[in-house]
Amino acid sequence: MSATVSVFWFRRDLRLSDNAGLYAALQGPHPVLPIFIFDTRILDKLADKNDARVGFIHATLVELAAALKKLGSDLLVLHGDPLKIWRKLLQDYTIAEVYTNHDYEPYALERDQQVADLLAERNIGFHTYKDQVVFEKLEVAKSDGKPYTVFTPYSKVWKLKADENALVSFPTEQFFHRFYPFNSTPMPTLESMGFGNSSIAIPSATVAQNIIKNYDKTRDFPAILGTSRLGIHFRFGTISIREKARKAGALNPIFLNELIWRDFYAQILANFPHVASGPFRPEYARIEWLNQEDIFQAWCAGQTGYPIVDAGMRELNATGHMHNRVRMIVASFLTKHLLIDWRWGEAYFAEKLLDFDLASNNGGWQWAAGCGTDAAPYFRIFSPAAQQEKFDPELKYVRRWVPEYGSVRYRKPIVDHKMARERCLATYKAALQNTI
Ligand code: FAD
Repeated sequence: MSATVSVFWFRRDLRLSDNAGLYAALQGPHPVLPIFIFDTRILDKLADKNDARVGFIHATLVELAAALKKLGSDLLVLHGDPLKIWRKLLQDYTIAEVYTNHDYEPYALERDQQVADLLAERNIGFHTYKDQVVFEKLEVAKSDGKPYTVFTPYSKVWKLKADENALVSFPTEQFFHRFYPFNSTPMPTLESMGFGNSSIAIPSATVAQNIIKNYDKTRDFPAILGTSRLGIHFRFGTISIREKARKAGALNPIFLNELIWRDFYAQILANFPHVASGPFRPEYARIEWLNQEDIFQAWCAGQTGYPIVDAGMRELNATGHMHNRVRMIVASFLTKHLLIDWRWGEAYFAEKLLDFDLASNNGGWQWAAGCGTDAAPYFRIFSPAAQQEKFDPELKYVRRWVPEYGSVRYRKPIVDHKMARERCLATYKAALQNTI
């Protein structure tokens, strides 16, 4: 049996610096054994066995382990069902306390409850911290204590509350000597877990300051590299949201607003967990989607005959990224022009996006379908042609991804815009007529 340890469980906070839960663990009474679990309950569901996100996590863990080795410790990386792994850990180590950061997704909440119960049976404390957002749950709430469901008033209160305390940096480095000295067994390889390397490149975790400074002017034009591409780093915690929010506040308030959207959707998921499986506004469950499989496949493949839609889908399939403006266009097109259930599109994005995050993805899809918080009225339907003219006027983005555009090889529109618009209005109206 080893010495008595505290365990720090890394999940979507894969960094040593400015990590709230890790800071608390290192300040605790016992040396800290850092662990990560490759969760087969998540991995088994991934269709692509060369999923770039798994490769990214693995590469990040290799870096974390190297950094921990320099500190005289190591990273214990495990692979399996978390509950079974925890049972085994309790046999292998004398664990006094467990520390981790909050995760607000339904599956994670269920898993954490099971682990908390298991630890409680043995009187082991399970200490959890807010780390992946600036404000969580009901920290930014209306004066009656209820959660906000509209972004603008939420963001005003968020900004008022975001003082030095809220954006504090946790100086973990002062306590790096508190890691448990051990040598881990070798980390599982991607191959041993049934995965391989992806050809998709991961965007850098550092961004040129000019991109953030000019963000308000460039962010809507998909042909320009005018956004940060930090999504995947926020998702897996390879950067600190507090640090970025502090800097963003000084550099560009419009960029800060986008970080606030991220908090906004995280609190929507935490406070209204029903959004994970159905519409925020229940009456939208009555919409009669057409859900034609072949039409959906054409959308996925970027073969709709609508150039800006096809460019977006092809960018997603090739790079794991899609520009925000184009995400809005393709999501609106799928739900409103093609009358396909937003959950189909949500699931496709979940499979493909490097920065996939349940809360933001769900929020974006529900917004586009008109059934979410803050949603535009359903009768406002994006015209793909007008959007293209406004945001890709020189067709630079379209030509990059749809080289056959303008030639006879480019396919005819899968649906007529005017017909689709009227069909959408009639369908939504039929579903909602007694409620609005
Ligand atoms: P930037 O424009 O540089 O913004 C910086 C960061 O702010 C982003 O990385 C992200 O963390 C946050 N952010 C920006 N816009 C939003 C927003 N509207 N909502 C929430 N957070 C935001 N974002 C995700 O992180 N994961 C998703 O799975 C996701 N799915 C989406 C699905 C749809 C249908 C739509 C319309 C939007 C979705 N978004 C999602 C929001 C947004 O499109 C992406 O965050 C952004 O495009 C990522 O690129 P970036 O890192 O260059 O962002």
